[in-house]
Amino acid sequence: MPSNSQDYIGIRNLINLLYRLYSRQKPLAEMTPQEVGEHLSKKFPITVQKEPYEPPKHRCSRWILVNGPVYADEGFFGTIIVEVSKIVDWMTQHANGVFSSNTAEQKAREYLPRWLEGADTTDETITLLDKHQREVLQGDCLRFLWSDWAKVWCPTCKAWHPRIQEHDFGWVQTGRITLKFDDWHCPEGHLLNTERPLDIRWIVR
Ligand SMILES: [Zn+2]
Repeated sequence: MPSNSQDYIGIRNLINLLYRLYSRQKPLAEMTPQEVGEHLSKKFPITVQKEPYEPPKHRCSRWILVNGPVYADEGFFGTIIVEVSKIVDWMTQHANGVFSSNTAEQKAREYLPRWLEGADTTDETITLLDKHQREVLQGDCLRFLWSDWAKVWCPTCKAWHPRIQEHDFGWVQTGRITLKFDDWHCPEGHLLNTERPLDIRWIVR
C-alpha cells in the first residue's frame, strides 16, 4: 500500500504509462477493478507483490481497532475503534471495488466482509486486526468516524468520543472532496493524531 499520496500518484502514473505502451482488449474505464488487477498481474507480473496470507481463524467481537498506539501507528495518540455490524455493507462494496497488487492485502480485503459478518456482536471486547487487514482499513478511519460507525479514545480525557474536531482548522471542503492537512483533536482540544505535512488525503464523502 502506498505510504502517502505522492507514492500513490507515482504508482498511478506508472500504470497509466504501462497502459499507453501496451495494447489492451478493453478501455481501462470500462474495466472493473478486479479486471484491471488480473490484467496487470498477467501482463506485468513485476507489479505484483506476492506475499502469503492466512485469514484469522478466530471470530471477531463487536469492535475492531483500526488505528492507535497499540499498533505503533505513526502520529497516533488516540485509538479508533469501529462497530463491526455498521461497516459490513461498506466493506462488501469496498472489497468489490478496490484491488491491491499486494496479494496478501488483496486476500485480506476479500476475506474481511465474511469475517466481519460472522462477528459475535454480544462480545464487547475489542478485536485487533492483522497487518494486512489494517492495510485495507486504516486509510478509512475518518470515513468511519464521520459515518458514526466508530469512536475514538482520548488518553487525556480518558473517554470515548463519537467524533473528532472537524470543520474547524485544517479542513478545506470543495464540493464532495474534503482536503485534510492538519492534526486531529478530541472535542476538548487534545491532540489525537498528528500527520506529516506531505500526507495529504483526499476524502470523497
Ligand atoms: Zn480529550
